[in-house]
This record gives sequence, structure tokens and C-alpha cells, in this order.
Amino acid sequence: MSPRADAESDRLKKAITMAKKAHSGQFRKTGEPYIVHPLAVKKILEEWGMDEDTVIAGVLHDTVEDTDLTLEDIRNEFGNSVAFLVDGVTKLSTARRGMRDIDTYLPSTKDNFLRLMIALGDDIRVLIIKLADRLHNIRTLSALPPEKQKKIAKETLEVFAPLADRLNMGRLRVEMADLAFKYVDPRRFEELETLIEKRNKSAEQSLKKIKQEVMEALKREKITAEVSGRVKSVYSLHRKLAKHNQNINEIYDLTALRIIVDDITDCYLALGIIHSLYMPMNGRIKDYIAMPKQNGYQSLHTTVITKDKHIVEFQIRTKEMHEYAERGLAASFYYNEQKVTENYKQGKIKHLPTNLLWITELQMAAAKLREGKKIDLKKLKLNLFADKIFVYTPKGDIIDLPNGAMPLDFAYRLHSEIGDHVVGVKINGKMSNLNKKLEQGDIVEILTSKNQTPKQSWLEKIFTSHARTKLMHALRPSTISEESTRRKHRTK
Ligand code: MN
Repeated sequence: MSPRADAESDRLKKAITMAKKAHSGQFRKTGEPYIVHPLAVKKILEEWGMDEDTVIAGVLHDTVEDTDLTLEDIRNEFGNSVAFLVDGVTKLSTARRGMRDIDTYLPSTKDNFLRLMIALGDDIRVLIIKLADRLHNIRTLSALPPEKQKKIAKETLEVFAPLADRLNMGRLRVEMADLAFKYVDPRRFEELETLIEKRNKSAEQSLKKIKQEVMEALKREKITAEVSGRVKSVYSLHRKLAKHNQNINEIYDLTALRIIVDDITDCYLALGIIHSLYMPMNGRIKDYIAMPKQNGYQSLHTTVITKDKHIVEFQIRTKEMHEYAERGLAASFYYNEQKVTENYKQGKIKHLPTNLLWITELQMAAAKLREGKKIDLKKLKLNLFADKIFVYTPKGDIIDLPNGAMPLDFAYRLHSEIGDHVVGVKINGKMSNLNKKLEQGDIVEILTSKNQTPKQSWLEKIFTSHARTKLMHALRPSTISEESTRRKHRTK
């Protein structure tokens, strides 16, 4: 909880009074007075540690759209910054309302909502308010009619949870995804929840022992550490199972322990200690400290096999890395790093931590746009989605692929059976070539024939290591052992 929570400033109090008055007489589907919603959003933003302007904008976020209050009123009372944030949130909802159902807007438009949000949300705080707004709405989704529930839940899974991930807000992503998944596929949710519970129960005793062993070993080496179990979200298990042909035995991070230590040196020492206790699995060591994920996530991961043949994943990180992994940009950007980025913009420092670079680039581009200067939108998109494009099956399922992917990558991502039998591809309804680079928003239809066999020449029409491994396997099943192929696939 933020220290500000119990000491509301006069500005904040004034905002609450203003919102109460503006929304009076309005009710939510739950039957409660409408003001309950903006106040809940306020609380969430406070818990995330956002600055006062953002919290005030959270209180007022629905007023311009749904009440008589105008942007001018807000500007006069609270200044430019709050008005700018409320305006951004209002623009986002207006834009969204202008689009058709998620079922149509996601597959058919190249400017899907996620991209639109980023294009409009040129102050990252607008997106953070929108995320808080959606979090409260999905927490209270049960009050809506079933059809609407499904729609909002689906949009949450496909747009908001990935956005939270983009901002490295891990805790938010997990909560949003699981709440939404429950509505999208209730039966599957329950099934997987039971499965996880069962697994956890059967692993409980051995996990306790492993935890004990590790803590003792760390203590012997004088490393101060907190060791705790990490719960895997139902939705991420669902996604992983889909990727591994529903084979739960291929999911190695089902049981995971998290070790939090004081500094980076201790991270690597702890990794060494764990490897001296247990057998590390080949190709399962990941150094996200030296090479952070695109969203800034840092940690050391390793999967080991214990003497009792249990497979356990360890995640090792410092307190700061942990905080950032859980709370993401909401935690670090506007508090600790604002000065850093300010100095960067003014040219006082040359290098930014990589996790902040894309945000800063986005904001600088947005500032240029506001000044009426031209920017290269293509480049901006590339920076934001350097690692990812979203393309669609004709049915509208979203497939995310690395930027640079081609039709065969798409086909092998769907299934190796599909990949092996490709005879052609239609992109956005037109016949196309297999070496055509896929673009953001393309609708890709793979044509297959059961008489087709994989071709050596396809290797040049493939971008992802995932597809390459599958193709190589199909081409030379006798020279590459199955085990090594599978391993490569996993480490991709
Ligand atoms: Mn709202």
C-alpha cells in the first residue's frame, strides 16, 4: 500500500468530491452507485504506487465521457497533466467504441486495439489507468450478462493481459489472465485448476525437503536468501499445454521455487550451489540477468532433477528484480527512473537501462507528434514490437510470431502436421509466396495436401528456430536423434 493512501491530499479530496457529484444518480450493473468504480480504480493505482496526477486522473477517468464534466473543468481545477491523462483515457474508450466487436476487430483490422492503445496512449500512465480500469471491471464481471462477460473476458486475454506483460506487470498479468480465462472457458479453467492442485499436493512433501536443502546450502555459503514456492497461473499452463500437444510431462516449470537474494553476485553463487546439489537439465539454464527479456524482466532460471527424480525449476533474482517482475513499469518508471529518463532526454546521460528504452522512445515520438513534427511510425512500431507480430488464422485466432516470420513459421506453429504438408499460402485472401515476410495483422491461410512432403529448400523460407527444428527433424529423422531435436525445441 502506498504511503499516500491514508494521507489524501486536498487535490485528491477535491477530485473525489467532484467525481461523486458528477456521477451521482448513475449506477453500475452490480446495483452499486457508479462512484464505487472510479474509487476502486483509485485504490488500485495507489497500490501500484502511481504518482498523484495519475491517481486523480483515475478518480476522474469516466467523467468526461459519461457525465456533464468537461475536460476544461478538469484542466482548470487540476492542471494540464491530469487533463491530459483523462483525455487519453477518454480517447481510448471512444476509439474502442467506434470499433466493432472484438470478434471482428481483432482479425480484420490491422490497427488492432493493442496497437491503437499504444499509439494513443502516448503517456504510459494513460495505459496504466486503463489497465487499472480493466482490472476492476474484470474483477466485477459477474454482474454482466453472460454474452458480454465472454466478450470482455476475451478482450482482456488478448489485449490487456499482453499489454500488462509488455509493461512487465507480472502480478497484474496473472490476475487478469486467470480471471478472464475463467469466463472464456470455465470448464477448462476448472480442469486445469484441479490438475495444478493435485500436482502441488503430490509435490508438497518433496518440495518442502528441497526447499530445506537449498536453504541450508545457501546458509553454509553465507548467502542471505528468501526461498518460496511460485504458483503457476492457470492460463499460462493452458497456453503451454497447447504448445506441447497437451503433454503435461513436458511442462517443466509446473513446480518452481523462487530464490530472492541481496545482489547479482549472490544470484550466480546461488545458481552454482543449486547445480552442485542437483543435476541441471541440459539447455534449461537461462540468464535473463545478463540478457533481460524485452520487457525488462531479469532473473536466472534453471531446471534441475533431484535425487528423487523430481523436476524443479528455480528462479533466482535480487529484490529489485523481483519487485520489477511483479509490478513492472508501474513500480519503477515514474518513481525511480523518471529522473534517469529526464536526464537521458536532455542528453546528460548516454545509455538507458534497456528495460526503459522502448518506453522513452515511445514518449519522445509522442512528444514530436504533439509538436506537429513528423515521425517514422514504422520505426516506432518496430521498436515497440521488435520481437513480435500478431497474425491471424482465417477463424480469427491470434498467433504471435517474431518479426521476420514467414508462412512456414506460421504453419509449423499451428502444428508440425500442417507444416510438413504445406502446398501454398493465402495472405489476406490472396495467393502468396512461401518466402513472403508476414506483416502485423495479416490473415494467413495455409493450404495443405496429404501428398506433400517437406522440402530441403524450405530451410531458406523459415525464420524461427522452432520451425527450423521441426523441419530438420522431418527431413533427417535418422541422423538427428529425437532427443536432441526435442531439446533444441525446448530451449528456443
Ligand atoms: Mn471506467
